[in-house]
Parts: sequence; C-alpha cells; structure tokens
Amino acid sequence: MTATGNSAPLVFTSGGLDRAGDLRSDPNWLAARRADSRARILLFSQLKPLLSGAEGAAETALRFLSRADANRLGGADADEVFLGLDGETAYFARDVSASGNEVAKLGVEAHFHDARAALDLLPISETAIMGQAKALIDWHQRHRFCSTCGAKTAMEDGGYRRHCGPCGANHFPRTDPAAIMLVVRGENCLLARNRRFGVAHNHSALAGFLEPGESIEDCVRREVFEEVGIRVGAVRYSASQPWPFPSSLMLGCIAEAISSEIRVDGSEIVSARWFERETIRRMLAGEEIGGVKLPRPVAIAWHLIRTWAEG
Ligand SMILES: [Zn+2]
Repeated sequence: MTATGNSAPLVFTSGGLDRAGDLRSDPNWLAARRADSRARILLFSQLKPLLSGAEGAAETALRFLSRADANRLGGADADEVFLGLDGETAYFARDVSASGNEVAKLGVEAHFHDARAALDLLPISETAIMGQAKALIDWHQRHRFCSTCGAKTAMEDGGYRRHCGPCGANHFPRTDPAAIMLVVRGENCLLARNRRFGVAHNHSALAGFLEPGESIEDCVRREVFEEVGIRVGAVRYSASQPWPFPSSLMLGCIAEAISSEIRVDGSEIVSARWFERETIRRMLAGEEIGGVKLPRPVAIAWHLIRTWAEG
C-alpha cells in the first residue's frame, strides 16, 4: 500500500525485503541461507544499527557484513533474525550487545548509531529494513521466557515465533496499533502540544493506542474526546507507518469534527488550537508563524497535515 496520496514515501515503509514468509519456517531452507556465502548480516548493539563510515557523516547507509566479518564482533552462535531476500541474497540481523561492540575489530569504517537519529542519515529505502530488524531484535530481547509457564523459549521461523518446549505455547512478535488523527473542521485543523514534547513549540496531530476490542474509528473518537473534548463524526483512514520504538504501527486518519470547542485534558495535552488551512500551507513552505513548529517529515503526522493542507 502506498503512503499518503501525492506525498513522498514514509520512512519505515518503502524498499523492504522479500520476507519469504512461505519459506522461512523451513529450518533446512533457513540453514542453507545462513550458510550461503552471499548472506549479509546487519549488526545491532544496544538496539543501535551498524552504519557505514565514521560517526558524524551527513549521509550514510546500513553496513551489512559477510558472516566472516560479522563474526569478528562475536556472537557467531547467537540467534539471528531473518529479514528477507533481495534476489539471491539473504539478509539477517544479529544482536552483538553481549559479545562486544568494538567496531575497530571489523577492519572497516563503521559505527553503531542511534536508530531514531539514523532516520535523517539513511536512504529511505533502508529505513524499512532497519525498522524491521530493530523491532524484531528488541522483541526477542524482552521475550526470552514463556508468559504462560515461565520456561525459557526458543526462536523459530527465522525470528517470527518463539516456542516454549515445556508447555507448547507459541509466542509471536507483537505490534501495537496506535491511531494518529488529524482533526479537521471545514478550513481548519487541530494541532496540539503534548506534554512529552517538552518546552518547545512543537504541535502535532493527536494520537493514542488502540484498546482491546476497539475499532480504529472508535479509538479515534475516544482519544480525541479524552484529549481535547471534541466530538468526531466521520473517520477516514489515510496511511500507516510502522514505528519501531519499540513496536508501534501508526494508523493515520483524518477525523471530521462535529464540535469545535476545545477542552484540553491538561495531563497528556498541554494546549491545542485550530489552524487555518492557509496558515498550515505557509508553515509547510517554511514560514515561521507564532513560533509553532510542525512535526518532522519522518513522522506520519507531517504527511497527514500536508495531505490535508494540499487537498
Ligand atoms: Zn511455556
């Protein structure tokens, strides 16, 4: 599925690998891919991916390694998650946090880099691979034991399942759906400042996690009313974006308001106000108006705002 209409591609959504979901559950097939000399491995240390070049470069790329090179940082017997295929080349990711992060041992110029900050440095086609790898490695780190019986579990299916031998339970990597919604009414949209944004003048769309048994539309209406006291009628899905911090899936929506009086909750949302479409267009063009800062283009919120402003 493409992103938001005429907008540029969203980070974490473009250029991913062929996940070979029909093949990766075959242990023999997976072992052959691991043993293949063409296999390439992306290392992570403390959830930071290995990037090419020296720290501080304005642009870089994921640094995939041969198995021989990857083993120089240890973890040769460690579990690896299978990321997918690009032609005949199989891609894997390995966590080397426990075995060391002395990049100098690799003999190539590379460094571990904060994953969120890397979004500004990587080609967009690589952000999906990084996001997939980070979300999987993070999940495996935090789910070593069975939530049913407490026994140690084992990685299966190239990292898309953990199995508990003693009780037979299967556990699957989790994705947490969150709705992110631009509330609109006629020629106005509502942007809010979240307490988490700190003291900056950042304003963005509202967002919240879906609760069990809740539709996306119900979640949008509940969150908007809780956070700013506005009643929402029609909800239109726009686009989605994986956000692996640690495992969210942002479901971008346009929410049609049927009331306009704002009452911020005061806990999560510090302030909220209506902005005219023309004002948003000028801000998107780079004009600073009232010190308000819009979200960065890596966020789906920016794409929702732009899609509406240009509509
Ligand atoms: Zn168990």
